Amino acid sequence: MTKSELAKYKKLLIKVREAINGDINHIAKENLKSQRESSGDLSGYSFHMADMASDSYDRELSLNIAGGEQEIIYEIDDALKRMEEGKFGLCLSCDKKIPQKRLNAVPYAKYCIQCKSKEEKDK
Ligand SMILES: [Zn+2]
Repeated sequence: MTKSELAKYKKLLIKVREAINGDINHIAKENLKSQRESSGDLSGYSFHMADMASDSYDRELSLNIAGGEQEIIYEIDDALKRMEEGKFGLCLSCDKKIPQKRLNAVPYAKYCIQCKSKEEKDK
């Protein structure tokens, strides 16, 4: 992977993390404020979600975000750490390169699709 590709994924990871953070904060805020009318205050959430819907994200990522936001933040931090170690984009299980198409959808992917589906079957 080239330096500029790495930089692109780093940006993407940070952007997704920020979006999720905004999302979590938003949900927390919404819980504090008792059912306030949505009087034009669509701030963080809708903005980020609109952002997330852009081409570089696909449905898999949105579904993952709905699944467990805090967990994804850990995954992203992990991916950033792997990036510093020069291991970003390599499958943790078989050491093969994770296809960029997959990384575009799930920039914090740890496993290639083969290992991932094997792991899911084992469960
Ligand atoms: Zn693999």
